[in-house]
Amino acid sequence: MALQFFNTLTRRKEEFYTIHPGEVRMYCCGPTVYDFAHIGNFRAYVFTDVLRRYLQYKGYKVTQILNVTDVDDRTIGGSQKQGIPLGEYTEKYKQAFFEDLSSLNIKPADVYPEATAHITDMEALVKSLMDKGHAYENKGSIYFRISSFPEYGKLSHMDISGLKAGARVAADEYEKEEVADFALWKGWDEKDGDVFWETEVGKGRPGWHIECSAMSMKYLGKHFDIHTGGVDLIFPHHENEIAQSQAATGEKFVNFWLHNEHLMVEGKRMGKRFGNYYTLRDLLNKGYNPIAIRYLLLATHHRQQLNFTFDGLEASKNALQRLYDFVDNLKIVKEGKNNPQVDEIISKTTQGFEDALDDDLNVSEALGVVFNLVKDINRLVEDKNISKADAEKVLNLMNGFDSVLGILKREELVLDEQISKLIERRSKAREDKDFKLADQIRKDLEAKGIILEDTPQGIKWKRKM
Ligand SMILES: [Zn+2]
Repeated sequence: MALQFFNTLTRRKEEFYTIHPGEVRMYCCGPTVYDFAHIGNFRAYVFTDVLRRYLQYKGYKVTQILNVTDVDDRTIGGSQKQGIPLGEYTEKYKQAFFEDLSSLNIKPADVYPEATAHITDMEALVKSLMDKGHAYENKGSIYFRISSFPEYGKLSHMDISGLKAGARVAADEYEKEEVADFALWKGWDEKDGDVFWETEVGKGRPGWHIECSAMSMKYLGKHFDIHTGGVDLIFPHHENEIAQSQAATGEKFVNFWLHNEHLMVEGKRMGKRFGNYYTLRDLLNKGYNPIAIRYLLLATHHRQQLNFTFDGLEASKNALQRLYDFVDNLKIVKEGKNNPQVDEIISKTTQGFEDALDDDLNVSEALGVVFNLVKDINRLVEDKNISKADAEKVLNLMNGFDSVLGILKREELVLDEQISKLIERRSKAREDKDFKLADQIRKDLEAKGIILEDTPQGIKWKRKM
């Protein structure tokens, strides 16, 4: 099967192709750094991370850009409330965001452009839209003229025939019913205080939408391969990005628009006023493992709503534990006869894993394939019907899968010599019926985070999560 993605623009699955051979250029709408990001935000970043990792697994060279919105109504409001400069205010949340990305084992993007560092690029884009008749000035602000761009509404599949000519909206976020000429550049007014730039398009600051058009095209070119984001960004943000970019360049902006669905919490919309609003930090402070959170965020297909529950988080933790146990026990498989069945299982599993991800990045199905592998191989391990060389092949396979999933990362795994000696001494103590010593060693190991299980097949061990 060839790699295909569901494209919001055409509303169907399309075979993936790239503009430059072997190379993918992708842009993801990043955070507005006015607060700590919540788990719904991180669903989008985990999705785009798995997408990028799979493209790399397939051999593409990937350039990924994730922007940081550090000037808008909310950041300005927040900094004024605290009485500190805008840059100082946003810096704190920006650093927190990068820490959170790293907790979730999200690979760093190639560039994290900040809006305030790209004002001249935005100014140039606004100027070119004015020169081409797609934008006009009104009371110091500059608006995009929607009627000048007949393709407006194509992404969100919106009928704009009833659009009132000359109606304008200044806010960055608005509903479909309020569609109107939107602000590219916001003329300075008193409530913005000392936040403004003196530019050729006037004194003021950029609108949110123009930020992403200017920064994506600066780093990826006028026409690039993939743009991602949450479904809430389809309108107006992405619709406006297309209008601004294509009106300015006369070229197609993006080939593939990939959107992830909303995250619900315990079946309800997440909101501060509903008491079910969680930042990543809230969950880490409750003692949850960040990789279990990553697992939960990626395990549901991105085009389905994800219902985040604490039971689900517990289940994710258990699923991860099964994978960790699997890997740990493969590492201690003893020398033995090679089993040709292992090669068959590996080839079947590889095919299944790739087929699932080729089909619009179906991660939940790919995980199902991985757990079938665990079941099949565990049976061989229990029957002592697998060699050390076989086990190494399976471990390699798991590492390859994990280059996409990013869930096997944890504390140093090697069973160091001291611990393996203790395990041996305990076995000996049990043989000698010195149960007191055996018990003491078990406790010592537990203190080191190692849990032993006596099974009919011998001793198994695992690390506490
Ligand atoms: Zn954006």
